[in-house]
Amino acid sequence: MTATAPYILSGNRMYCNYCPGYCCYRLKGATLLLDAIDINRIARHFNISDGEARNKYIVERNTFKTRPDGSCIFLSNEKMCGRCTIHAARPRQCREFPYNDPCPYLEREDLLNIIQPKVEESLQRLK
Ligand code: SF4
Ligand code: SF4
Repeated sequence: MTATAPYILSGNRMYCNYCPGYCCYRLKGATLLLDAIDINRIARHFNISDGEARNKYIVERNTFKTRPDGSCIFLSNEKMCGRCTIHAARPRQCREFPYNDPCPYLEREDLLNIIQPKVEESLQRLK
């Protein structure tokens, strides 16, 4: 029973509600790919055209711009959790990750060691 607890925690998507969004920081090798439906959803969210959404928010044809710390431009630095500022219009990949698997960002110490300092740096403004 106790042995399965960490798996249950990290495999439970409810945990996303209390997470600072580790998966919203782009690490080397991590990809966030947007398709035309994702771009259209975001364009409608901001009441702009698909072309304008591409120009404003997307680089390399199909991924969001990031900040120097690697965070997605839509990640809020004003709070600790629930940080996606386009939650209702977020891309499919953001909705589905971690695909009913245990979240790798919670399971892997090496990933957490890289991301936690970035999260803390981003949230400095809260103090
Ligand atoms: S998928 Fe993982 S890293 Fe992303 S918000 Fe959920 S628990 Fe956090
Ligand atoms: S769109 Fe939202 S959920 Fe997706 S990476 Fe950006 S901040 Fe995270």
